[in-house]
Amino acid sequence: MSTDLSGIEGVTYPWDDYPAPGTVREVADGILWISTPVPFVGLRQVNLWLIRDVAGWTMIDCGYGWDETRGLLETVWKEALGGRPITRLIVTHYHPDHAGNMAWIVERWGQLLPNMTLGEWFAANVSMNFGYADNIKQRGLWHKKHGLDEQRQRLFEQEVVPYDVGVSLPGQFKRLRENDIVTIGKDRWRVIVGQGHAPEHVSLYCEARKILIAGDQILPQITTNVSTWPMEPEADTLASFLETCQKFLGQLDPETLVLPSHRKPFRNVLFRLRELGHHHAARLNVILEASKGEVTAGDLLDVLFRGKLDGHQIGFAMGEAIAHLNYLVQTGRMRRVDTRDGTWRYAKLDGFDKPVTLEL
Ligand SMILES: [Zn+2]
Repeated sequence: MSTDLSGIEGVTYPWDDYPAPGTVREVADGILWISTPVPFVGLRQVNLWLIRDVAGWTMIDCGYGWDETRGLLETVWKEALGGRPITRLIVTHYHPDHAGNMAWIVERWGQLLPNMTLGEWFAANVSMNFGYADNIKQRGLWHKKHGLDEQRQRLFEQEVVPYDVGVSLPGQFKRLRENDIVTIGKDRWRVIVGQGHAPEHVSLYCEARKILIAGDQILPQITTNVSTWPMEPEADTLASFLETCQKFLGQLDPETLVLPSHRKPFRNVLFRLRELGHHHAARLNVILEASKGEVTAGDLLDVLFRGKLDGHQIGFAMGEAIAHLNYLVQTGRMRRVDTRDGTWRYAKLDGFDKPVTLEL
């Protein structure tokens, strides 16, 4: 596949705006789009989906666990379901904007079993009880080791939103696995498990109708957060993410309508996937160029991110910077310098000048 994307038409958006709060928009026969607010500055909103099912509706994702979302959902359920109940809940991944209201929805509709992968179920429960990727103390020490300056570290500590603030979990779930077929109404939706953003993220693909419910795995306009977290410090999450992009490229029809979790539904998914490869290659090259001597992930924030980061964003930015450094280490372009003071610094390997290309 060519890396030259010039002259190829980019992503297109069939709808110019979002459904108003508390309303739905039908994006395909029997598929309704809901947009709900999140408390994170850059993200703004998260999309939830309702799919007409045999006896009721299947709902995809739960929204952030706060009153704003619960109020809007009550309105939608009253007005848009035609008097039929929610009979199934599918959760793409454990993050608070997707899993937040899980327990509330489960109880509200009479003990549904949320359908999700084992990895996401575990991640949700470990986050709730032990912090997991969100262990704030461990993340603080990890940032320090990676050279984050004091001022940003303080901002992180003040503003980061812990997992349990926006999530409530039920006690049971139903497991989804790669390539499972979930029949919703008359349609067969295939589970595609993705990596790099969350441990076992679920996307659902209806091949016959050429529709992908992408979750956070493929987003337009913004890029999916790909972070390395302190409990697995050498994880090459970027390689995992790119592997999933490659898998999508091999499976999706070029005409697919993508229903992402953030921003608006779009077309030209193959272009978007290749564009994501280019985006990450460009970031890797920015790091290589900025690495004159030894650098830390903390040094790279000003190089990689424009504009002021709030405390919550600083955590994600550090995770992303470390993920990109790990990729450069794993692919033999940089090495971690062994330093006695406990700070993790990185340096380019001698004789390495060729820019990274990621041809998806
Ligand atoms: Zn999300």
